[in-house]
Order: sequence, then C-alpha cells, then structure tokens
Amino acid sequence: MPMFVDTSPPGQCIFCRLVAGEIPSAKVYEDALTIAFMDIGQVTPGHVLVATKRHAATLLDTTPEEAATLMQTARRVALAVRTAFDPPGLTLLQANGALGGQTVAHVHLHVVPRHEDDGITFTWPRQEPPAAVLAGYAERLRAAL
Ligand code: 5GP
Ligand code: ZN
Repeated sequence: MPMFVDTSPPGQCIFCRLVAGEIPSAKVYEDALTIAFMDIGQVTPGHVLVATKRHAATLLDTTPEEAATLMQTARRVALAVRTAFDPPGLTLLQANGALGGQTVAHVHLHVVPRHEDDGITFTWPRQEPPAAVLAGYAERLRAAL
C-alpha cells in the first residue's frame, strides 16, 4: 500500500498547485507542456518527476503531444542526471491508477538514478503462456487500436 495518496479534486491537486507556484518546488526544467522538479521523497539522490502542466490524471488522459513531450523532457532530464550525478543505472517509472501504484493523480514520470544495493525492489511475476495465447492477446489489441 502506498504511504500517501493525494485525494484532492482535479485542478487543486498537489502538482497543479506546484505548477501554479502555490506550493514550492525545486524546479529543474519547464517548457510549454511539461515541468520537471525534484521528488520530495528522493528515493535516490537526483530523483526527478516530470509532469504535464495541464491537469491530466493518467497517461490515458494526455494528448499525444503531452505524452511525447513528457518522454522528451524525461530524456533531457536523464541526460542531465548522467552529467550531474553519473549513476551506474537509471530507471523510468510511470504509474497509472491506485492499483498501478499512482499516489498523485496528475500524470508524471519518475526519473530515478540507480545504484548497487539502493534498496529499490520490483517484483515481476513472470509467466510464459503458450504462443497461441500471446497471439490471442495481440489480436485483441490490434482490434482495439
Ligand atoms: P506516484 O506514487 O504517484 O508515482 O508518485 C508521486 C510522487 O510525488 C512521490 O514520489 C512523492 O514523493 C511525490 N510528491 C508528493 N507530494 C509532493 C510535493 O508536494 N512535492 C514534490 N516535489 N513531490 C511530491
Ligand atoms: Zn493536477
């Protein structure tokens, strides 16, 4: 269970207030569509959040331009993290919905510098269904595109 969940209504959420300058943040970068700032939780030193400026709850609520710019900004930030912190690894994380691990319902992407024994764990219950099952899943998705 996440330790903290922001239940503010859209437009008054923590990140909307941060974008509006109503609450302080350690800002790294901004452009017309996105903003990057230090995560208050700093899982490792240099942990940055990249968020849309407009309130969109999840990735599924973004425009194609916002989604593309989120990743472009994440890439810029990742290059800066490499220059400034030089971590041996880097993980991007983007959570959607409470069950997806999202605690602030305003779309954002984590840029997390990674180090040996940094305490971050991610369980991934790998399964290997038969090829026919994979083909069925792909068919459902192609029909949905
Ligand atoms: P999520 O769990 O939704 O993927 O990530 C939300 C992140 O927002 C958490 O890592 C948390 O530390 C960060 N966060 C929550 N409130 C604030 C805040 O007021 N300022 C900043 N800079 N980060 C915040
Ligand atoms: Zn918001």
